[in-house]
Parts: sequence; C-alpha cells; structure tokens
Amino acid sequence: MTKIYRARWVLPITDEPIRDGAVAVEGTRVAGVGPRREVSERFPSAEVIELGEAAVLPGFINCHTHLELTAMRGFLEPEEGDFFAWLRKVTASRNERMSADDLYVSAAWGAVEAARAGVTCVGDASDSAMMSMLALRDVGLRGVVFQESFGPDPRLAEQNFAKLKLKVDELREFQSELVRVGVSPHAPYTVCRPQLELISEFAISDRLPLMMHAAESEAEELFLREGTGRFADGLARRGIEWTPPRISPIQYLKQAGVLDTQPLLAHCIRVDVDDIETLRETGAKVAHCPKSNAKLGHGRAPFAKFLAKGVVVGLGSDSVASNNTCDIIEEARFAASIARSSENSFLKSSQMLAAATVEGARCLGLETRIGVLREGWQADLVVVGLNGAHQLPVYDPLTTLVFSSSGRDVLLTMIAGREVYRDQRVTGVDEERLRARMNEIAQKLN
Ligand SMILES: [Zn+2]
Repeated sequence: MTKIYRARWVLPITDEPIRDGAVAVEGTRVAGVGPRREVSERFPSAEVIELGEAAVLPGFINCHTHLELTAMRGFLEPEEGDFFAWLRKVTASRNERMSADDLYVSAAWGAVEAARAGVTCVGDASDSAMMSMLALRDVGLRGVVFQESFGPDPRLAEQNFAKLKLKVDELREFQSELVRVGVSPHAPYTVCRPQLELISEFAISDRLPLMMHAAESEAEELFLREGTGRFADGLARRGIEWTPPRISPIQYLKQAGVLDTQPLLAHCIRVDVDDIETLRETGAKVAHCPKSNAKLGHGRAPFAKFLAKGVVVGLGSDSVASNNTCDIIEEARFAASIARSSENSFLKSSQMLAAATVEGARCLGLETRIGVLREGWQADLVVVGLNGAHQLPVYDPLTTLVFSSSGRDVLLTMIAGREVYRDQRVTGVDEERLRARMNEIAQKLN
C-alpha cells in the first residue's frame, strides 16, 4: 500500500526545497519525491496524508549518544566543572546502582525522547550495548550501537579485548535490518595502547564500525602531551605505569592504528592544523557535540574549519547527562551560532541541515541508505510543523527549521516506512510505564 505525505515544503536536502511537495512511501522505501501533482499522478490509488503547513525532510541523525545514561539527565550539575569527578560519578552510578532493567529503561526513554524529536538514527556508545539494542528495537529506531571497551592497564589488554570480542559475538545475534553493532574503545585515557591496537585490528578484520572519544578535554591533552593532570594521577594511584607519547590525541590515535579504521571520533576539540589534515587524509569522521562541550566547559570544535578542509562532520547530542536534551535541531542552531561567534564563519542553514542528516549518515557508514529523501532510499523521514507562533512568518523553510524550531515541533517520525511517532504518541512502547520506571530509577540514584 502506497502512502503519499503532502506538505507545504518537502526538503530532500541534497536537492532544492520543493514548495507544495509530496513524498510517496511504499513498504520500507521512498517511492517518489516531487511536486504534489506529479507524485499523485504517479500513484493514483495511494492513500494521501495531508500535513499542511509543515516540512517533510530526512530524519535527523544523532551521531553520538549514550542512551543508557538518560536517567542521569540533570544528575551531575555539581560535578560539571571537574571532568574527572564527572566521569567517575557516571561510571560508579551506572555500574553500581543501575540494574540491567534500569539500563534498558534508561535507554528506551532516551530512544522515546529521540523519536519525539525527529531523530530516526543514532550512533550510540554503550557499556550495556545489549540493552541499547533492545531499546532501539522496541521504539523502532535505526542505529549503530558501539559496545564500549575500557582498560587503561596494558597488563590486562588481552583479557579486556577478549571480553569485548565475547560481547560483540553475543550482540551480533541481535543485529537487524535497522540496528548494527560496532565497537568503541572509550577514550585515550581509559584504554591503553595495546588494547587500542587490538580493537582496531579487530574492527578492520571483522568490518565493525569503530567510534571513540577524542581530543575532548584539557585533562586528556595534558595526559598525552605531559603525562600530568587528573587522568595521569588516577593511573598512578592504581599502580599503572604511563609514559606519555608527547603528541596530540589525534596523532596518538593515528600511531595506535585507530585511524586506520576510518573511525567516528566524538568531539575533536583540541586539534591543530596538522590534526585536521590527518583526519581528512585518513577518512576519520567527526561527531560534533557543541552543546555537551560547552556545558562541560571543554571549549568547541573548529566545525567550520573541518567543513572547509573536507572533513565529514555530523552532529551529536552526547548523553543527556551533559546536554541535557537530545534535540538535533537545537544542536544545529547552537553549532551555527558558535561557528559565527568563535570562528567568524556564517554557515548556511542548508549546511546545518546537511550536518543533521546526510553528513550524519556518512559518519555512521549509512550514506547509501538514509540521510536524503530520494527514490529507492529508506523511508526515514520527519515532519516538522511550521505554523507556530515562534515560527511565523516563514520566508525560507530551512532558516525557520534551524533558527526558529526545535524537536518539540516534530509532528511525525518515520523509520523504514513505519510511523514510530505520530499524534503525540510513540507507538512501539508503553510510555507511561517507562515514565514511572524512570522516576523510580531517579529515586534510586539520588
Ligand atoms: Zn560521549
């Protein structure tokens, strides 16, 4: 059964906006995109859904999330000035105080928030990747779930790597058309070099996407360049020897083989001209997380420079523990504004929407299936209302979307032809049960 979604605007992203446009959906795919009369003539017996003053565009892609940490939204305000203390509290709370079901509920609530905000695909880094995969499945989102690996002690590298392999083997059973498995060595200061090398070789041999945090904080840079600071002190306290390579985080990851995997790197704030060139040359991609970076006081990544140099950049919310929302429209607006204020670079609304969609798809290796509205591509799309008091008048729908809208203006979210959010309801899960459980988890954590 073909359905035609008609709206004031259809925004294919890689082609010009279509006024009074339509998108035809058949099964899991887009069957046609164009002016409404043309689409109606091609599919005369299709059911027509009239959306009125709204824009239909490819679903938003959130390249960097930690859905399992959704229960920690607003939980770490006192620690936000001290990244080491922040990470320690996140890790201890997750490992010691949250049950497997708590982690599932937390991830599912994060997936609900994403679906409501028009996010159709996530790149989720998770210690409990299984729970994240189940959450995505139940809500109906697409995604790559990166199983995290930790281990700063080189003496335990083999053992920690074996654990990761075992987990990935289990997770493979849960892969589907929509959800894929990847690996994520957490960060340069939590994973030792031999373990980085092992994981990188594994990612290449097993064709697993790899995601890693990189060049995020001053503490990380001190750790690598000087062998000092909170991370170095932390290792010393645990009796782990550390000889700093005295190079930048990006060059260190190149040496350790991580960049051979064409990884997705979250943050990339502390990069110089050579690092940017290295990212471009190696085909590494960047998950730009400007709101999280600003909230934790880490600074900002040179987004406009990345684009000028041809580095692929998508947008990420990071966990809501440091954001505090998963809203890619808001992320795009924030990214555009700080590029203007700190890089003196006036990126266009069209570039911001590309980062939120097609470039995000490239970051996750899904660029031949999603990220644009095109015949034959997966029917992952979002409908955003354009008729609000905060939006009128609409001179240019791209500008209205980026600078006047938010995820709360989303009316419908579709993934692989399935409406996962419509009429204010996420259809795949019992939102009331999850809401009650989220409040229970918060009481337990507090
Ligand atoms: Zn992160």
